Amino acid sequence: MNVDDCVLIAGAGPVGMTTALALAKAGIPVKVFDALAEIPTDHRASTLHPSTLMLVEELGMTEILINRGIESPLFQWRDRATDRIVAEFDYRDISDVLKFPYALQVEQHKTIEVARDLALPMDTFTLTRERELVDLRQDDEGVEIKVQAPDGSMETHSGRFLVGADGGRSIVRKQLGIDFPGFTWGERFIIVSTYYDFEEAAGYRYRNYVAHPVQWCAMIKVPGDEDEGVWRALFPAFGDAPDEHVLSDEWIQARFAECYPYDPPYDLLHRNLYSVHQRVAETFSKGRVAMAGDAAHVNNPLGGMGMNSGIHDGLNLAQKLVEAWHGADHEALLARYDRQRRPTAEKYVQAQSIANKKLLEENDPEAREKRLKELEFTATDVSAKRAYLLRASLVQMVEEANAIE
Ligand SMILES: Cc1cc2nc3c(=O)[nH]c(=O)nc-3n(C[C@H](O)[C@H](O)[C@H](O)COP(=O)(O)OP(=O)(O)OC[C@H]3O[C@@H](n4cnc5c(N)ncnc54)[C@H](O)[C@@H]3O)c2cc1C
Repeated sequence: MNVDDCVLIAGAGPVGMTTALALAKAGIPVKVFDALAEIPTDHRASTLHPSTLMLVEELGMTEILINRGIESPLFQWRDRATDRIVAEFDYRDISDVLKFPYALQVEQHKTIEVARDLALPMDTFTLTRERELVDLRQDDEGVEIKVQAPDGSMETHSGRFLVGADGGRSIVRKQLGIDFPGFTWGERFIIVSTYYDFEEAAGYRYRNYVAHPVQWCAMIKVPGDEDEGVWRALFPAFGDAPDEHVLSDEWIQARFAECYPYDPPYDLLHRNLYSVHQRVAETFSKGRVAMAGDAAHVNNPLGGMGMNSGIHDGLNLAQKLVEAWHGADHEALLARYDRQRRPTAEKYVQAQSIANKKLLEENDPEAREKRLKELEFTATDVSAKRAYLLRASLVQMVEEANAIE
């Protein structure tokens, strides 16, 4: 195959854009294609962990993001049944290893915008929107993709490598015939936002997880469009009630009344209902194609690890592609990428997000109290707390993955 001298990237989400920025900054020509006309601004990830802030600093992103986000060193676990704060964690307790000892609360679309705005002026970067990857083939020399425009017309592009950063329903993964084992949770999740100030009303931090035997929930603060401060509540929606019912004011106000009975009814700004999966691809690379982010693994949002670990994948992969670009053995490098990122996605992101959900939803009173007591102990014992924070911040995952040969 005659290939263009570039790396192709399918998907301009947070993972595709940060990967592209890292490659473009390293002088590698990169062509990014995205199916959508615009960056979606719906409610998705909202937290950048300290590990991610350290990693994207060398791309020039962190300082800009800090100006657009809310620094959040503290996060809480609460119990609604007994109406108590079970545990509070503080990233400043591990500031010896964190350059930025806080999570940054900032909407996902702003993280994408920051990466895009840094990449756009570079000669090595091109972004083409409204081009959906529909087909790919590869040989020893490179990869050829077909992308479709909204009018149905097709274009063919080629490059030395392809990064599949095309999200949970990845066409790249499907085209490569890579299995995506795991499961889908029975309940859907709904995110609702309000201006109601939970910090002022009830001492909430900017990230809070609230256990309840029937109706657990999470509460997170994000900056909002005008830096006015918006609070996002996350609820499970059990059963198969129609979307219109679950998205109705009445249903949502009932969930608020159960979880946050401080001052109802709440003003409701936006709402977003979606299905949640726990899946990890059976391999993260095949030939000259590698996947990163949701294309490679998906998880529930409790702990805010999906986008963060996805960006970590992308930056790890970019380093490998830079080496391969300059002549190193790409097969060995991409195999190492898979060895480093896939098992640690299982061990950290999958295990922790599932454990977080199980803790919140436990409805057996004895088991529930036991789990909450364990968490209470973790927050007060110096070494248990440190171990917990190193996992929650994904610092340990990055270090462990990088140490794998
Ligand atoms: C509805 C929803 C709500 C979420 N809420 C939360 C949350 O509250 N907290 C949290 O931590 N995480 C949340 N997540 C997860 C988080 O958003 C993801 O982990 C993160 O977006 C992963 O980034 P990504 O770049 O890998 O994929 P995506 O953000 O999905 O980006 C993929 C990009 O690829 C493009 N694309 C897709 N197919 C093609 C194709 N064939 N050709 C070209 N382009 C293509 C898409 O248009 C998109 O721009 C949510 C996810 C969803 C879907």
